[in-house]
Amino acid sequence: MSIDELIRSWDGEFVVSSFDRATGAWIFIAIHSTRLGQPLGGTRMKVYDAPEEGLRDAQRLAEGMTYKWAGIDFPLGGGKAVIALSRPLDEGERDRLLERHGALIEKLGGAFSTGADLGVGPELVDVIRRNTRYALGHSAGDPGPYTSLGVLSGCRAVAAELFGKPGLTGRTVLIQGIGDVGVPLSRRLAQAGAKLKLSDIEVTRARDLAAELGAAVVAAERAYDEPCDIFAPCAVGGVLNADSIARLRCKAVCGAANNQLESDEDAERLHARHILYAPDFIANAGGAIGLPGLELMGMSEEEVIASIESIERTLAEIFQEARRNDESPLHAAMRRAGRVLERGAAAR
Ligand code: NAD
Repeated sequence: MSIDELIRSWDGEFVVSSFDRATGAWIFIAIHSTRLGQPLGGTRMKVYDAPEEGLRDAQRLAEGMTYKWAGIDFPLGGGKAVIALSRPLDEGERDRLLERHGALIEKLGGAFSTGADLGVGPELVDVIRRNTRYALGHSAGDPGPYTSLGVLSGCRAVAAELFGKPGLTGRTVLIQGIGDVGVPLSRRLAQAGAKLKLSDIEVTRARDLAAELGAAVVAAERAYDEPCDIFAPCAVGGVLNADSIARLRCKAVCGAANNQLESDEDAERLHARHILYAPDFIANAGGAIGLPGLELMGMSEEEVIASIESIERTLAEIFQEARRNDESPLHAAMRRAGRVLERGAAAR
């Protein structure tokens, strides 16, 4: 589709586009919805075969952000920036491009705020930040602990749904990916009395933490075959697919990884196997709440914590609705987000 067709056929609000003459890159800032508040979404930067592909990514990801915020009823809107490179850049070119991107965001005067995404780690958001107040980089802090608190809250909702009470004492949780989220999540779960099985392709990461917490280690290729109550994907996306779902020996999935389902059909596959699925965009929203809450919205630490812990109630309601309708919680979560957006539109 051409840029013209992509913009005409989109149900979002507007797209800011800028051609960066010095590098030949296109910058697209797609604003999908301001119904709940000012849009916040990361900046993705990579080489695309054509700028149209970058625009399509920006539109799709901005829509995802709308549903992420609406799913947890958080007062932010859906937006995303994509820097579509036509060729790889050296460090100096890249930094100057990111500075110009920051200047563009600053001109929007708060209509869009950004953070890290693929190709733009927190250290590069700090480069964007040289020219704008509307970016959350390294200096804003590490979102991992907040994300892990949200996943813990999700695990409590899962336990309440499966076992009738939210306590995690004696429940077995397998954590796939012992990184920025997996480490604090393991510590929180150990403190809550859960039995842990840790798995990482970097075996020493799992082994070292397992020794500290008295947990078991599971080889990365065995993670799906290992019996557990909750499987917590905290590594990469696309891990739930026809093959892995057939192998799973858990009662529920609740983790931090983005885009855990390879396709929407995988939600049906989990449902058919009676495996409770905590939709990823709700379960991993803790980090998304934490940094903007503190940095952009003036919330106190206590307010941020309370907001993240409310993921437990949100998921409990989603699970209830899904149980009533005998459907995947993914559908209940999407409907809930739709209702929040309608309310947001009516309130304005
Ligand atoms: P990270 O890079 O710090 O850690 C990921 C870990 O997973 C690494 O230790 C890596 O060795 C391991 N890993 C990679 N592939 C694996 C595999 N196939 N099997 C087992 N282990 C594997 O990443 P992170 O920041 O902890 O994020 C983890 C996931 O959660 C990502 O999908 C990320 O997009 C998502 N997420 C993170 C945050 C956050 O606050 N960091 C917020 C929302 C979502």
